[in-house]
Amino acid sequence: MIKKNTELKEILKLTNDCKCEACESGCGFGSGILIEGEEKKIAEFLGISEEELKKKYLEEVEEFNKKFLRPKIKRGEKPYGPCIFFDEKQKCKIHKVKSMQCKLSMSCKPYGEDLMLWFMLNHIIDKDDPESIRQFASYLTSGGRTLEGGHLEELVPDKEKLNKILKFEILK
Ligand code: SF4
Ligand code: SF4
Repeated sequence: MIKKNTELKEILKLTNDCKCEACESGCGFGSGILIEGEEKKIAEFLGISEEELKKKYLEEVEEFNKKFLRPKIKRGEKPYGPCIFFDEKQKCKIHKVKSMQCKLSMSCKPYGEDLMLWFMLNHIIDKDDPESIRQFASYLTSGGRTLEGGHLEELVPDKEKLNKILKFEILK
C-alpha cells in the first residue's frame, strides 16, 4: 500500500520506463510539473541553457499556493492542449529526462492514482503553509482522495493550530 511516507526508491520500483498511447493521452491535455533539479536535466538533454529552456518551453503554474514550472501547453483557442514536448509520431520528446510527475503518471496501473497522490503530498502540498493546508482541506471536502499519512490531522497534528488555520485565524 502506498502511503505518504513511502520512500522514493519504493515508489520508483512501481514505475516502468515504458511508453505507450494510453499514458501519452494525458500529454495531449496538459503537462507534468517540474521539481528541483529537473529543469537542469531537461536543458542538458536538449543542449540548451536553463534560461533558454524557461523562455522557450516552460510556463508557470500555481498548485495549492505553490508556484512551479511545467512544459508549456499549446492551448490555441482552448483552455487545455498538448504539452510542448509531445509529438504525435515521436510521442514524448524528452522521455529519458521527463519529470517525476510524468514518470509517476502510470494510467494503466491500479495504483496509478496513488502514485499521483504520493507526488501531491510530498511535492506540492506544503504542511507549513496555512494557505496550502486550506486549499488541501477544500480539495478533501469536495471529494478528493488522500493517502495514509496525508490526512489533515496527520499533516498538522496540533488540533488547535489546524482549527485556527481553517478558520483563517492563522494566515501565514
Ligand atoms: S505505465 Fe502503462 S499506460 Fe503508461 S506507458 Fe507504461 S504501459 Fe503505457
Ligand atoms: S514532458 Fe513528456 S510525458 Fe510529460 S507531459 Fe510532456 S510529453 Fe507528456
